[in-house]
Amino acid sequence: MNKIAQIFETLEYGPAPEAAQPALDWLASHGNKFGHYIDGKWTAPGKTFASTNPANGKALADVTEGTREDVDKAVKAARAAFKTWSALSGYERGKYLYAIARAVQKHSRLFAVLETLDNGKPIRESRDVDIPLVARHFYHPAGWAQQLSRAFPGMVPYGVCGQIIPWNFPLLMLAWKIAPALAAGNTVILKPAEFTSLTALLFAEICDRAGLPKGVVNIITGEGPTGQAMVAHPGIDKIAFTGSTEVGKAIRAATAGSGKGLSLELGGKSPYLVFEDADLDSAIEGLVDAIWFNQGQVCCAGSRLLVQESIEEKFLAKLKKRMATLRVGDPLDKAVDIGALVAPVQVERVRDLVKKGVAEGGTLYEPDIDLPKGGCFLRPALISDISPANTVATEEIFGPVLVEMSFRTPEEGIALANNTRYGLAATLWSENINLALDIAPKIKAGVVWINGTNQFDAAVGFGGYKESGFGREGGKEGMAVYLKPAWEKALKSAAARTSSFDKLRMRSSTSASGSPHGEPVEPRGRGNPLDTAAIDQTAKMYIGGKQVRPDSGYSRPVFGAGGALIGEVGDGNRKDIRNAVEAARAALGWGTTAAHNRAQILFFLAENLDYRRKEFADRLRAETGATAAAANKEVDAAIERLFAFAGWADKYDGTVHNPPTRAIAAAMVEPIGVIGIVAPQELPLLGSIALLAPAVAMGNPVVLVPSAAHPLSITDLYQVIETSDVPAGVINIVTGDAEVLAKTLAEHDGIDAMWFCGSAEASALVEKASIGNLKQTWTSRGLSFDLADADKFNGAYFLAKSTQVKNIWIPYGA
Ligand code: NDP
Repeated sequence: MNKIAQIFETLEYGPAPEAAQPALDWLASHGNKFGHYIDGKWTAPGKTFASTNPANGKALADVTEGTREDVDKAVKAARAAFKTWSALSGYERGKYLYAIARAVQKHSRLFAVLETLDNGKPIRESRDVDIPLVARHFYHPAGWAQQLSRAFPGMVPYGVCGQIIPWNFPLLMLAWKIAPALAAGNTVILKPAEFTSLTALLFAEICDRAGLPKGVVNIITGEGPTGQAMVAHPGIDKIAFTGSTEVGKAIRAATAGSGKGLSLELGGKSPYLVFEDADLDSAIEGLVDAIWFNQGQVCCAGSRLLVQESIEEKFLAKLKKRMATLRVGDPLDKAVDIGALVAPVQVERVRDLVKKGVAEGGTLYEPDIDLPKGGCFLRPALISDISPANTVATEEIFGPVLVEMSFRTPEEGIALANNTRYGLAATLWSENINLALDIAPKIKAGVVWINGTNQFDAAVGFGGYKESGFGREGGKEGMAVYLKPAWEKALKSAAARTSSFDKLRMRSSTSASGSPHGEPVEPRGRGNPLDTAAIDQTAKMYIGGKQVRPDSGYSRPVFGAGGALIGEVGDGNRKDIRNAVEAARAALGWGTTAAHNRAQILFFLAENLDYRRKEFADRLRAETGATAAAANKEVDAAIERLFAFAGWADKYDGTVHNPPTRAIAAAMVEPIGVIGIVAPQELPLLGSIALLAPAVAMGNPVVLVPSAAHPLSITDLYQVIETSDVPAGVINIVTGDAEVLAKTLAEHDGIDAMWFCGSAEASALVEKASIGNLKQTWTSRGLSFDLADADKFNGAYFLAKSTQVKNIWIPYGA
């Protein structure tokens, strides 16, 4: 039989290799050896390590290990460039970004080939997905640059941003990080992953040729310690990191108390739900893309297949058949589905996890397909017969390995889908629109794809819930993480603060009755405890809609402005916090209560406080020694703040994006979960209300620790809460030592976000203690936040911190 007839008979693919030569020529033009790109110049190569092609183990080039001194040099260059770059008009900055986008398009084949050589991903993916998205991710923020003052009024860039990226989408992750940072007016130092530095270095050359001012983009190659040096450098104003949750936590701990901005895009174990009424063939093709795209080395890979039991057998049979047709091979071959993993160490890691899966009782299926000799290749794998607690069901494998479980009812499917510490993405397949749209909001993940998967666009935010990190990349949210309010940048240490109310106060709030910024207020063991018996009523805690006694059975004296005992409150401890968190978690349904209803309850709260304004003003005077005018002003401001956020409840909501695919992406604004709040010592009433109101308006139950020095304004509020129809568990109040309770809250995994007002030292402790479940934190860091300032705090500032955006991709239109 001749060759052509043979091909018709077997339908075998012929080789379709992409030429590697142009990329090799580019490397050769640099002598296959690179220094860093700092201040618009290449440094001489230092101590180097090899970047190799994982498909054949051959060295491509040597790149330099970045030292502390290199980082320092880059920070100086970026700082010097920041002044002029941030002063350029958005239009001018946008033009540079357009020029870079065009240059990426012009050299797209070179970028794609170099990426595939360095990373091992199929050329089909680098050519058709990675590089076109890179260009799009420069075009989109270029537009934002010009609209900055209109879209983000009052916001300014952080300054110098340190950006650390992984190896799975080397150039795309670079684009996600660099483009919005530059559009916002920041300058950057970016460290690519050690395995995949080459396209970042080609990108540096593109910046150079686009005439980007020196020092605006600096690329430093290196390994973990280079990243650590960036994280630790005091001259860096913000760290943006994508990578493993483990390193993300280390970075959170290392930046605690530094005041650096932080956004983290971390790991995932994303569920892929297939319901019995799904179009199974489409769901199978989607699954191929979900788990074998980029060899499964995708943070949002649909790596946990959850199939409805009624179709499990049929679906798995189809899946195995499809797996047997996947082609693993030379990544430069245009007809290959699965290329090489990034490095031998990753191959070993994946093999070990698969072994563990089998040892724990899983059944492994791998199709009998050929693998190329040598190189980092693995067969696609499916592990079934596992339980939710198995290692392979909980750990991110980051390889071509799918794990499978079944569910019976949609409720069970949701429970399984959410049974993970991660929350990056989820996919669901169903032909029933009612079912799909019912499930999507119930899944705790930053992205949900309906009847599709792995869809990305620069206009649509991407990022995680829970331990998948915080902050978003792409869209307006992706711009916001590179901007901060101008006033926040100018804040001084709280010692020098003068709140608008201070002027009205008879005495400063640093009176004998307390210190304003979180220092221990009331020394314990103040005389004989029995001496306080003159006060016959101790304010209790407020937990789960009831007034409850403190677990410890101890109370804390509260002294008035003149030093006289004016009351007692419970001395809250770990157990009170635990009970309060439990009550708050039981009230998470508050987040799905209609915004209109949440608004009504806050209006009611404001109204009921208004009825009792005199009583509250008197209490403030007794607590702090404020003048009548100051006390009235604080009560009025608290009422106004409640009204403001009642009004916001149904207005701070989402939008619909129109990405350039056959879909819409509904950006839904969702509450974060349970928020722990430690209120400031000053402004005993308004300080708590200013934080409570936005959190509750957006649907978050809260555990509030009121001012330790002056807690009675808030314990008086219990009755107001009770008469205002606030559902049990939505507002929980624990009185006691602010710093002790703050630490307990920050360490508690049932708290999803933590806001803390207090000293710089205590703020650092709170941030460090938050790493257990990577809760989002806001701390005042001993700075002069004046919560009385309605212009700053009646709007988006705390609303943004009360919410996270979930993008639900819905197939739409022709
Ligand atoms: P890492 O999280 O270790 O690496 C990500 C980036 O951070 C790299 O540039 C790395 O440098 C750098 N880095 C490493 N340690 C530190 C540190 N202490 N401080 C600052 N920067 C640091 O991921 P790995 O490459 O080691 O991969 C390990 C596992 O992480 C994978 O198997 C996978 O499970 C997961 N992962 C998840 C990703 C995601 O997007 N969800 C992406 C990448 C990995 P260098 O590479 O030079 O060490």
